[in-house]
Parts: sequence; C-alpha cells; structure tokens
Amino acid sequence: MALAFFFALLAQRVSFVGDELDAETLERMRQREVFLQEQMTQQWLYIENLEKSRMGIRALLFSPLSYWKIWNVILFLVLLFCFTRKIYKKFQDIRSSTDEESSVSKMEQQEPEQQQEEEEDLLFADLIWPVRTHQTNCREVHLLFSSLIDICQNILVDTFYPVPECPIGVGSVYEGWYPAENIPVFCLLVPLMAPHGHVFRLDLGTTGQLPARNSRIRVHLECTCGREQQMGMRCFLHSSKKQLRNQHPSLLKELCTDSYLDVEKTARWFQALIKDAWDRMRFPEECELNVEESGRSCRLSVTDFYKQVFLVNILFGVQQDNTDIFLSSQEIEAGKIPSTTWPQSCAVAEVKFFQHVAARAEESNFYVRYMQVCAYILAGLNFSTCELKTMLMQLLTAIPLESWQGKYFLQRMDDILHYLRCCVEVNRLNHFFIGNEDVPAEIILPQEFQVSKPLNLFEYLVNSPVRQKQALEEVDELQDRLASLLIYGK
Ligand SMILES: [Zn+2]
Repeated sequence: MALAFFFALLAQRVSFVGDELDAETLERMRQREVFLQEQMTQQWLYIENLEKSRMGIRALLFSPLSYWKIWNVILFLVLLFCFTRKIYKKFQDIRSSTDEESSVSKMEQQEPEQQQEEEEDLLFADLIWPVRTHQTNCREVHLLFSSLIDICQNILVDTFYPVPECPIGVGSVYEGWYPAENIPVFCLLVPLMAPHGHVFRLDLGTTGQLPARNSRIRVHLECTCGREQQMGMRCFLHSSKKQLRNQHPSLLKELCTDSYLDVEKTARWFQALIKDAWDRMRFPEECELNVEESGRSCRLSVTDFYKQVFLVNILFGVQQDNTDIFLSSQEIEAGKIPSTTWPQSCAVAEVKFFQHVAARAEESNFYVRYMQVCAYILAGLNFSTCELKTMLMQLLTAIPLESWQGKYFLQRMDDILHYLRCCVEVNRLNHFFIGNEDVPAEIILPQEFQVSKPLNLFEYLVNSPVRQKQALEEVDELQDRLASLLIYGK
C-alpha cells in the first residue's frame, strides 16, 4: 500500500513538470524509475516468499495440531488398556493365590472367572461414563401419582368429566437417559377415558400426515336408554332438560370447544382436580404440592418429607384403539397450536421399546449410557435428542444386544456417530415407528403406521446444501466432543 501510494505521487509529479525538464533530468528520472521498479519487484518477491514460509509454518504447526485429539485418544486408550490389564492381572493373582490355598472344585472356579469377565466389561465403560439413573425416584413418583389418580377417580364418580387412568412414565427420565446436568422432570402420561354416556372419536385429519399433527378428539353422546340404573345416569340424548336438571352436565358443556375435547380446558380442570386429591391424602405439613401455570399440561413440584423437590409434568392422552400410540397434549413445536389439537404421540411406544431391550439384555440398562453420552455431547447443537434416539433404536435392532456391552462402548459410540454422518450425507433418517418392519412385535402400532412409506426425519436437509453442510460440521463437532469427553472426562 505504501509503495503504491509513493508511485501515485511520483506519477502526479512527473506529469506536472513534464515539458520543462531537460534531457539530463529526464535520464536521471528514467534511471530512478528503473531502480524503483527493481525495488518493487524485490518487495513483491519478498512478500510472496514470506507468505509461502508462513503457509509452511502454518502447515507444519497445524498438521499435527489437527490430529492432536486423535493422538490423545489413542494415548488415552493405550493407557486405559494398560490400566484394565493391570487390574485384570491383579484379580487373577488374587484368584490364583486363593486357589492354591483352598481346594475348590473346577465348577466353582469357572463361576468367578465368568463373573470376573463381566466385571471387566462393565469397568471399561464405567470409567468413561458411569450410568446415573433415577429409577428409585421414578418408581416413587409413579406410585404417588397412581394413588392420587385413584382418589381423582373417586372424586369424579358422579360426574361426566374424562376418567383419568393409571399414569405411564414417559420421556427421558423414565427411559433412563435424561441429560446428566439437567434437573430431572418426571413426565407422566395420564390416559383419559370417555365418561359414561360419551364416546371419544379420534379425528386424525385429512392430510394423511404421520404422525398426525392436527388430530383432534371429537366427543359424542351415546344413548344410554335402558341402562339408566346400571350406569346411574339419565340418557343425555333422550331425556328432557327437566329430567337432566339434577344430573351433572355432559362433558360437551364442560371441557369441549365445538364438540372437540379442549386441551387447555382439560389441563386447567386437571390442575384443580389433582390439588383436590392431594389435599384429601392428608400428607404431613412438610410435604407440599405446587401447581404451576401451564397451558397444555399440568406442571407440578412436589416437596417430600425431607424437603427434596421433584418436578413432575403430567400430559394427557387418549389411546388410539388398543395401540401404543396416543393423541396427547404434548407440545410438538414452539408456538401456539389450537387448543383442540391433540398430536399423535409415540412416547409410550418409545418407553416400551427400551423396556423390550432391557428385558432381553444381560446388562439391563446398558443402553442408558449411550443415550446419556449422546444427550451430553449434543447440548447446544441443532440435532435433536429425538433424532439421536431414533438412530439408537435403529442400531439397537440391527446390532446384536450382546455387542453393546461395556467393552464395546467405544465401537458402538463410533457406530452411532458414523451412522449419523451417513444419514446426513444421504439426507435420510427414517422414523422408527412409521413404515419400519423391524419394530418389535410387542409394540402395537396402528395399521397406517405399519403400511405407510418410511418417514424421513431429515427431510429438512433435502434441497438445502447449507443446512446439510452445517449438519456435517455438527457431526465433526460431536466427534470432537466425544474425544474431549474421553480425554478430559467433560
Ligand atoms: Zn337414549
């Protein structure tokens, strides 16, 4: 820049004095120009060489730097391997010395060997990520709310409000993998049944979209004539207003909007109902139930006798036929959705899937570790835990369960991230419960889920190279975060 400015000034000056100069002066100036041009060429060569040398230094510096994490991982694994071998040998020494002293039978020797092997398998993964779950608290919260729901049923016996049934634990805490650094929120789905004289008809919309997002629950009255005594009610359809005067109003007049069950009215009703049930249980004064304002669910905080606080979120759902799919009050996206919309939810089917895996695996809750690590390294990125959970469910059905044990932890984590990369590259991740023949038979799905084409959860990446590029960068980031977790433990 400085040189260019100097030449500009010089050119200006030459044009200014032009014709008045003599031949000698012109010759001097020509020589000066040649000299300056040489100087400039040298400057450019110098700059170019400097750039090249900088590039060289950068290349020299950064080529090992880009691999430092990989080298660290390898170093860490070697150390870890040595460490586990050392422990293994120590166990063997202890065992052999015990063997010399005692005269145990061969059969008895084999059992500890097998146990030792299992301990070693667990130890490896436990060093990296010890499993932390809230199983006991999950059971207690479920038990408490099952009792409260029993009381709710008694309160509602002569009314025509929906009948709440035994809650189902759903979501990350009940699946065991909630992000370790978050405060656990115990999520319960309370199935609602139609009261006497009413029928719920599920309206899944006309778009054919799966899972249905604009589904609604239409409330119909049914004739109960001839069953008055048995049902303890008068027929809403064929009784006069005078005859219905002493009977509670129908559900249509209480919690519906345009004949459809209203989520927000239902949530408000249930918030008052559960408080009423709590008061009837007569807990000690130290125990408290606080109901928070929430539009589509019932958010509660329960303080126990030891002043420990539990956050509980109650969702409502109406079961679709006898399947594991519910139309639920769960919010599916940010922003306001109509109060009569009950989106189709796979939350119960997901819990059932993980129960199915746990029942078949030797190490019952091993999958928890994978999901917890995924949720941990995923924090702040655009991939959703739902997407990673989908991948994990697919891999759990594709790879034999014994290959997920502790000693295979790194291989399986590598599989998960490699699979994610492949899915992003081809812009396709199939929904686990829609159009998938590999869903375990215990999970009961509606017919339309079974016969539908697979649903692509990565549809938003198709025709969007920018988002796909971002997603691939996030996969790199996930790999870096996993490496950091392995090396530094965080
Ligand atoms: Zn009737």
